[in-house]
Amino acid sequence: MRKNARNLLLQGLAAVLLAGGTLGAVNVTGDEANASAKPVPHATHTPRIAAWPVLRTGSRGTDVLTVQHLLAARGHAVTADGTYGKKTAAAVSQFQKRAGLRVDGIVGAKTWAKLTALTVRSGARGHAVKAVQVQLDLKVDGVFGKNTASAVSQFQKRYGLRNDGIVGPKTWNALIGTSTPAKPKPATSATALARQLLGKRGITYATKHSKTVDPRSTAYRNIHDMAQGIGAATSTNSHVGFKRVQLDPRMLKALITLHDKHHYRLQISEFVGGSHSKNSRHYRGLSFDANFINGIHVGSGAPHKQVMKLCRDLGATEVLGPGNKGHNTHIHCAWK
Ligand SMILES: [Zn+2]
Repeated sequence: MRKNARNLLLQGLAAVLLAGGTLGAVNVTGDEANASAKPVPHATHTPRIAAWPVLRTGSRGTDVLTVQHLLAARGHAVTADGTYGKKTAAAVSQFQKRAGLRVDGIVGAKTWAKLTALTVRSGARGHAVKAVQVQLDLKVDGVFGKNTASAVSQFQKRYGLRNDGIVGPKTWNALIGTSTPAKPKPATSATALARQLLGKRGITYATKHSKTVDPRSTAYRNIHDMAQGIGAATSTNSHVGFKRVQLDPRMLKALITLHDKHHYRLQISEFVGGSHSKNSRHYRGLSFDANFINGIHVGSGAPHKQVMKLCRDLGATEVLGPGNKGHNTHIHCAWK
């Protein structure tokens, strides 16, 4: 769910950013903030129907697994491995053809609607049940027993859906689509936390670095890659070169807390990308840099001291900002 609000939001955001470089968040690598950078604008509303994620060749993660189980439920021979490869794309195309949809091998809203046009309830068995279990982080055994029923029911309650324990169109949409920011799905894994973060309208991500240029490692890409379950990329021209790193769940949780509980709006300028000092914790997924707080640039009147204190309260052991060398225009919070 959170993915949905987030997808819409982010797609919109991405469109805006692509459309005008001037709106783009100019990023700051660890140690050189760009004082003229503007914060990323926020989307202004949340869709009532969760936006379906768009999946295509190269996509990975829980939603891909879900598609694969749903295809299997309809008799397509696909391996449920969470990776959207050629075979999955071919099965999707075949399904689209049979369903009278445009055949493009990409799972968007229309294909999701047809794929999920089935009802699953207590006593059911098979691949469609697995699709539900994957979304709810349950044991994937394909048996809709008591555990699955209670998880579905709790989920429906939490999302304000009719609490009947039956997975029909609305529940499918809520399960797979992006969440509304007000009702995030509780998350424990880094992937789930990243997805949850993407539903937070007050947290935005730089789409550029200030000095380095690797577009695969911007804060924006880092958080999306985490949400896709593939890990955040470091920059080719950094000390560690290009590699995939997991963002630390404690850091992601802290960002969620700063937003939800303390109501700060932050722009993250770097996670693992950019160039930092040689043994920087950034390269291990333990740090974030933020260059805007509540829309104000750090060093130009932003309440950086308050946020730095909260970072420490939330477990960060390396917290830097204006007054510290190289940090006049951003804050740095790192966990151990
Ligand atoms: Zn930093």
